[in-house]
Amino acid sequence: MLRQKIVDTHVHLSPKVSPKAAVAAAAIESELAVAGVSRAIVLHLISQPWSAEDFAAAIANHPRLRGFVNVDPHAADVDLQLRQAVEKLGFIGLKLHPRLQKFELSDPASTHLVALAGEMGIPVLIDAFPDGDWLMMGFDPLRFAKLAIECPRTQIIIGHFGGHHCIDFMMLAKRIPNMWFDLSYSLLYYEGSAIIDNLLYSCRSLNFRRVFFGSDYPDRSIQQALQMSMEVFTMHELKPPQLDALLWRNAAEFFGWTDI
Ligand SMILES: [Zn+2]
Repeated sequence: MLRQKIVDTHVHLSPKVSPKAAVAAAAIESELAVAGVSRAIVLHLISQPWSAEDFAAAIANHPRLRGFVNVDPHAADVDLQLRQAVEKLGFIGLKLHPRLQKFELSDPASTHLVALAGEMGIPVLIDAFPDGDWLMMGFDPLRFAKLAIECPRTQIIIGHFGGHHCIDFMMLAKRIPNMWFDLSYSLLYYEGSAIIDNLLYSCRSLNFRRVFFGSDYPDRSIQQALQMSMEVFTMHELKPPQLDALLWRNAAEFFGWTDI
């Protein structure tokens, strides 16, 4: 049997592993090797103790790792920060976390930044896990949709598939071509509930396109997240081409990686 190819589009450096970014990055590289994952997107967060420069230097030595940079949409030099992160530091995407970063998606500064990413030809991954805090902040799939419509040149990845709002997001994605999804965290968080059925229904309804696998390491070890996700896929009787699509092919095509 051929080895199952895997791309993990959602991991973070763990400050619990080490205060040194280089050590935390090496830990991810070895986790990926153990789990048989060919490539991973590592998401920088300004709430973590590393600058974009330290982060970029830490992942640069590892062939499996690529980075998305996190910037503050309200920073005075936000355009410069994003341009330098991509052109000088080698980041291949922008990560936004409106809940942790405390900004509104409807804010003109958000639209400006997301549009700029599109002009630069890089995708934007936006956290979309509707926990209690974000629900109280007014989490609404329509805000993501409006942003995608306002920034038609930007490829927007909805992190965690919008959690229990996955059906809404899937329906919106049928009308809005520049929306993609990752399954990280949600596929395991709602274990044993009908939301898992809804997530798989949403994947099926999108013909298993525009959806990526993610582990959200260090929430769980990459190996464990992968095993648990495979159990869900097996339970839902996914066929090999559907598994390939979710586990690596969609991501490889999206990022133009021909070496997976
Ligand atoms: Zn995450």
